[in-house]
Amino acid sequence: MNNRNIPKKILDWYDNNKRELPWRNNISKKQRQYFTLVSEFMLQQTQVKTVIPYFNNFINKIPNLKKLANVSEVKIMKCWEGLGYYSRARNLKKTAKKIISDFNGDLPGTIEELKTLPGIGDYTSRAIMAIAFNKPIIPLDGNVERVVKRIFYLKNKKEINKGNLINKKSFFGKSNRSSDYAQAIMEIGALICKPTNPLCFECPISKNCQSFKKNDFELKYRNSFNKVKYFEANIYQNQNKYLLIKNKKFKFLKDLLIFPMKEVEKNKFQSSQNKKINIKISNMDMKIVLNKKNKMIKIKNSFFLDKKNIQDQILPSFTKKIFKSVSNCS
Ligand code: SF4
Repeated sequence: MNNRNIPKKILDWYDNNKRELPWRNNISKKQRQYFTLVSEFMLQQTQVKTVIPYFNNFINKIPNLKKLANVSEVKIMKCWEGLGYYSRARNLKKTAKKIISDFNGDLPGTIEELKTLPGIGDYTSRAIMAIAFNKPIIPLDGNVERVVKRIFYLKNKKEINKGNLINKKSFFGKSNRSSDYAQAIMEIGALICKPTNPLCFECPISKNCQSFKKNDFELKYRNSFNKVKYFEANIYQNQNKYLLIKNKKFKFLKDLLIFPMKEVEKNKFQSSQNKKINIKISNMDMKIVLNKKNKMIKIKNSFFLDKKNIQDQILPSFTKKIFKSVSNCS
């Protein structure tokens, strides 16, 4: 496969078609580091269109690394409210503090050093190296993975393992516009090489694509299943007030306000006649039975929240969804 002109084709397409994203604005080097750090944390597990308003608000309220290192827990969580995966917000603040104490306020410029920062793993460190430091790295996110699988028509288990996908990225070669190039390949995945119905006639590399030649775009995934778990949530209600507790028990939504709940066996869940809801969180498919209790109790770290004050509280969307279900059936 001749791939000498691939970078030029891809970058020409990118220059004419890229989305205007707030973290891509023309900004100073220092700002680019900060914008990349914040956007990459937000983009872990969350789509671009969801992140944009959160990013704009965050940068407005917490405009630089120094402010981030000193921000109050309440303020950062309020900025993150509704975005989910709240440990990202806590890690982002810890990372800012560490950059100031250990790296003199500058985002470190090696993968090894970046990985010493809380919340930064292999993918995020590579994305930061490419985007903020213009290093010739193409991070393997879901979009890039899809493009690679389709170009090479990779289907079986051995072909789609991570090591093979990383090797196949050599197809893209290198460009001296490394930051743009990495984003351009991700952008092709996001805008053109979509999971279903890819827009191949707009694709700058369709001539090099085996899936296009075979007219077969079906994708095979590694471990694409969600874990199903069953829970009971106890809804203690006193008129318009509901009992919430600070979550110390579950790894997800740690230290956030939730209804008192526990994990139960599938049989117990199925035999209940009470209202049931489904919420997806991380890679978990939560099936929750809502047990309404018209009595008062005392639980450690708990308090009653009036329905009308929900907006003033930092509540994960998980808890808001349960509130909504409970209100609808009362
Ligand atoms: S030609 Fe189609 S399937 Fe191939 S990479 Fe481009 S958009 Fe994806």
